[in-house]
Amino acid sequence: MTVKEAVRVLIAGGAYAGIAAALNLLDLCHARQARGSRVPATYTPIFVPVEIYIVDERDGYFHLIGTPLAFASKEYAPNVWVKFEDIPALNHPAVRWVQGNLKKIDSQDRQAVILDSKSNQEYNLRYDYFLAATGLRRAWPAVPVSLGRKEYVLETSAHVDTVQNAGHGVVVVGGGAVGVEIAGELKYTHPSTKVTLIHSRDTLLSSEPLPDDCKLAALQALRDLHVEVILNQRVLQIREIKDDQGKTGQELTLQDGSKVIAGHVMPAITKNVPATSYLPESVLDRDGMVKINSLLRFVDEGNDPYHLAAGDLVAWSGIKRCGRAQAMGARTAQNIYQHILSTRYNIQSTYTEYQPIAPVIALAVGNQAVVYDSKGTRCSEEQMEHFFGVDLGMQQFWDGLKLGESPNYRHSL
Ligand SMILES: Cc1cc2nc3c(=O)[nH]c(=O)nc-3n(C[C@H](O)[C@H](O)[C@H](O)COP(=O)(O)OP(=O)(O)OC[C@H]3O[C@@H](n4cnc5c(N)ncnc54)[C@H](O)[C@@H]3O)c2cc1C
Repeated sequence: MTVKEAVRVLIAGGAYAGIAAALNLLDLCHARQARGSRVPATYTPIFVPVEIYIVDERDGYFHLIGTPLAFASKEYAPNVWVKFEDIPALNHPAVRWVQGNLKKIDSQDRQAVILDSKSNQEYNLRYDYFLAATGLRRAWPAVPVSLGRKEYVLETSAHVDTVQNAGHGVVVVGGGAVGVEIAGELKYTHPSTKVTLIHSRDTLLSSEPLPDDCKLAALQALRDLHVEVILNQRVLQIREIKDDQGKTGQELTLQDGSKVIAGHVMPAITKNVPATSYLPESVLDRDGMVKINSLLRFVDEGNDPYHLAAGDLVAWSGIKRCGRAQAMGARTAQNIYQHILSTRYNIQSTYTEYQPIAPVIALAVGNQAVVYDSKGTRCSEEQMEHFFGVDLGMQQFWDGLKLGESPNYRHSL
């Protein structure tokens, strides 16, 4: 690398972790206080020529937290998918993005293989630093199927029609966080539609490391909305039926032999797997999560300063949340910048460690939020407003990362 050569940072995944990393890095490399940092920098900031290259399968930022409401409201859905080209904060010559699928990372040669979505051609890209921020591979209805905004708007709109035409109501199968939020948003948005949530265990959120009072609060919040909750019942079979008026519906057979009729079924039970198939196996644990140290670096064969990971795909403590992903993304930016300072400019680096975190959650259930943190469990409309605002946190994320502000700094290389 010559002194004038730009450092290329490849970021896979342009959502909470990836965008936070990109924008914090853009600030730092332009000798600015990083937007994600609450403490002033303790060193003299130095300009670093950088090229930030974001690759994502989607054509924009999708606010995943908003999925349950996006599938319930035609008004809401278009607001939570913003094409990368329409995000002013990314409008800087040092930032590039491409809609594509990251196929392979060769961490020895620091080279990536990317399948470009538009041309359907694969190409190789060399990088200096790599950040894995591709999260989990989730199935519908936890995420929309579409990868482009236009198709997504059609997909969510068609789903709202399906809900409105579901004469026998909607059944959500699976009472994890996603199932609870989907049932809550559907009922809150369509109060006259019958919404039933079926869960195989005796408490909701049964696989989350949360106290019982938090799980009970989620149940109560759904009951406050008049969602019918059936616990301790596994769905054994789902078959298509026609009712007396010739309308098609679905009949669910539960483990006690009882039947539930639905106009529409939403299965929120798929196990999410980390979206890490492009990485060498040696950097993954048995579940496919990326093994990292507290500097958020891969720990394959020691401490790799050129490969980092942030967000849902890392093997780390705490419940997978967007705040956690964002915080990790911001720290990876700090640590990449610090490493550049030390290797390129011989400046003593100050790395930021990411500490283990206890389980915390904020769950939107219609008009209320169930919150669990160090202060304990609470559930109310006030918590909803505080943690999610009026749009399931879209504006908070947008404002927090200053996505609406075009960077007013330029620096020639
Ligand atoms: C329905 C639902 C509701 C939720 N509600 C909340 C909530 O209320 N509060 C909360 O804190 N958290 C919530 N979460 C969890 C939160 O959304 C995640 O923790 C967060 O999205 C993690 O961010 P991330 O950046 O790690 O990954 P993601 O947001 O999953 O982003 C990963 C990105 O990588 C891209 N990608 C994946 N594979 C590839 C590849 N091979 N090549 C290129 N691009 C790729 C994807 O397109 C995506 O844009 C919810 C999740 C769901 C599904």
